[in-house]
Amino acid sequence: MKPSTPFRRLSCLALCLGSAFATAPVLADALNVYTIRHHDSHDALYDAFSERTGIDVNVQEIEFERLLEHAEGRNRINDADLAVIVDAVRLHQATEKGLFDRTSSATLNERLPESVRHPQGEWFGFGQRTRVVFYDPRDVQADEIREYADLADPRFEGQICVRSSSNTYNQALLASIVAHEGEEAAEAWAQGIVNNMARAPEGGDRDQISAVADGTCNIAIANHYYHVRMMKGGDAEQRAAAEQVAIAFPEQGEGQRGAHMNVVGMGVMAGAPHRDNAVRFMEFMTTAPAQQLFVQDSYDYPVVAGVAPADAVTALGTFKKDTLVASELGEHLQTANEIFERVGWQ
Ligand code: FE
Repeated sequence: MKPSTPFRRLSCLALCLGSAFATAPVLADALNVYTIRHHDSHDALYDAFSERTGIDVNVQEIEFERLLEHAEGRNRINDADLAVIVDAVRLHQATEKGLFDRTSSATLNERLPESVRHPQGEWFGFGQRTRVVFYDPRDVQADEIREYADLADPRFEGQICVRSSSNTYNQALLASIVAHEGEEAAEAWAQGIVNNMARAPEGGDRDQISAVADGTCNIAIANHYYHVRMMKGGDAEQRAAAEQVAIAFPEQGEGQRGAHMNVVGMGVMAGAPHRDNAVRFMEFMTTAPAQQLFVQDSYDYPVVAGVAPADAVTALGTFKKDTLVASELGEHLQTANEIFERVGWQ
């Protein structure tokens, strides 16, 4: 991700934060967005909404933990309208803390697939990422990886690199296996992965892909967009590493569920002073131009039918996506974390 740009527009929203005496102006035609991930193309997205509606958008990048503090009432943000949060696990945690105000919108319900909508309207997904397999094609054949369960097979002993279980992407993946196959099968899978690890978990997803390239392991589990960013980021070493690995989308066969999908979502924050504007923005997010700007630099997949991902993402290939409702990942989070503990996945 690019270096953070916390204050997109010079405004009281940003400057007054932290002062106990300050109250941000509540303007009828304003929208205050708090995002844990900002990308360059999002500036154009917010500008397009302002141009269309006359609503002035103030955007601030924020740590997820800070949003939770707000939700718990420990450190309130008075002018917060809309939260943008990556990952189903974080969306679940935010929901549990009461961060969101439920929204009902026929537009959102009609335009967004069920899999990316919280069933009670706590949050709505506008981008998706898949957690897939990158392997060294000199050592592993494509047909050896047909499903996630293959990674747990003893034939891959000492060959797998994957990051820590404290990472929410791994938590969501294991939660999806609990949802589809049950707790016992999920535990057997996690145990198999631990048995097959080439090393104790370290680093982020890019590091796992690099470790395949440098021969530390033959197989890595990582989110698709890290590979795309390694290819496009301008770092020659990362690009060279990414070029050496092949991608496998698991669960693609007939009757199989499709590759695991995680979600990037938004929700109206409880107590939002500009609630209607926040809903209006989410409805705008279902339009094709907004979808394109939202995923242009993040390399996530768009969620609205007929909108294509960025070219570099399309280049990864088409695949079948798991349509499990993303909020169900949160429901299995605790079970997943208990499994990680039991199998000793650090
Ligand atoms: Fe990420």
